[in-house]
Amino acid sequence: MKKRNIYRCVVGAAVVSSVILASVPVMADTEVQKYTNTDFAMDTVVSETLYTTGDDLNASIGEKLRDVENGLLSWTESDSQIAKINASDGKTVEVSDELAGYLSQICQLAEDSDGAFDPTLGQVIRLWDIEGENPHVPDEEELDSLLKNVDYKNIVLDGNKVTLKNGATLDLGAAGKGIGCDVTASYLKEQKDVTGMILNLGGSSVMAYGEKPDQSPWKVAVTDPRDTEGDYLGAITIKGGEFLSTSGDYEKFFMEDGKRYHHILDPKTGYPVWNGLTSVTVVCDNGLLADGLSTACFVLGIEKAQALLEKYGADAAFVDEDKNVYLTSGMKDRFELMKNTYTIKKIK
Ligand code: AMP
Ligand code: MG
Repeated sequence: MKKRNIYRCVVGAAVVSSVILASVPVMADTEVQKYTNTDFAMDTVVSETLYTTGDDLNASIGEKLRDVENGLLSWTESDSQIAKINASDGKTVEVSDELAGYLSQICQLAEDSDGAFDPTLGQVIRLWDIEGENPHVPDEEELDSLLKNVDYKNIVLDGNKVTLKNGATLDLGAAGKGIGCDVTASYLKEQKDVTGMILNLGGSSVMAYGEKPDQSPWKVAVTDPRDTEGDYLGAITIKGGEFLSTSGDYEKFFMEDGKRYHHILDPKTGYPVWNGLTSVTVVCDNGLLADGLSTACFVLGIEKAQALLEKYGADAAFVDEDKNVYLTSGMKDRFELMKNTYTIKKIK
């Protein structure tokens, strides 16, 4: 009994002293400043809000994101490491430690999702050209012949050596923005003056780092997939060190004969995923994984996605065409519904 009192007393003292210590820098003329910026990188609009006692780092973060795109991930920039692997014609290519690490995470996710997330969809994605000049429903024969090259098992990763077998082509579009968030988080960890940041890549991949000066939570808006210009569907609270990613059928698509042809493809059929979902938002402690998981969960559908989310300790919100929002148990406390046209439902 006595011991417990003493313990409480010590805890109380620790809290008080940390409050005193925390107030010292403010008194010593090092107030936290807020710097906001809008940039363009990784093919999207980047919104940056940085809190720091030092310099504004937003421009250098924009540069870092462009370096990741042009040096590592781009399939169009012939100097990027991914473009070099794609041009290797089956020969082994040596890549940086950084890219080897990302590829290893990506291959693991492909396996864990039973190929729902497949980074070798490159040629099929080009054929649909959903993001390009001539988006169209491809010729079935052509699609079938390119689909034969799609299989994440065609990526052979041995340390820093990558070999792409059977004519496979890499496209890391489903994880690239998440990688950008991870790169930014690592950079911020080296900056002792930074106290907090929220980085938002096109609304689909978000990183929260540290805290706001008033310690209020970071909140991220969730787009209504069928009213993208209107009010938000909801908001999700995330902590510093967490990452959020959304995959939706409204992000890149074209309509033909009343059908929505969007950019998330089922690697088994080569066609867009039509399973009733309109968006999936995932929160976890890694940017690449949040991004990859949101794509994988969109392909898997609500039920099959649960085991994958559990394995990665991730929370998710699934939105469907009937305007239902399905939340995992960890997402319930984070999610705030902002539209009464939607209904929150349980995941069975
Ligand atoms: P996201 O918006 O993160 O879901 O990523 C979608 C992008 O990833 C598409 O524009 C394609 O480049 C690529 N992609 C589409 N379907 C898949 C899939 N099943 N697995 C991996 N990448 C995909
Ligand atoms: Mg993704």
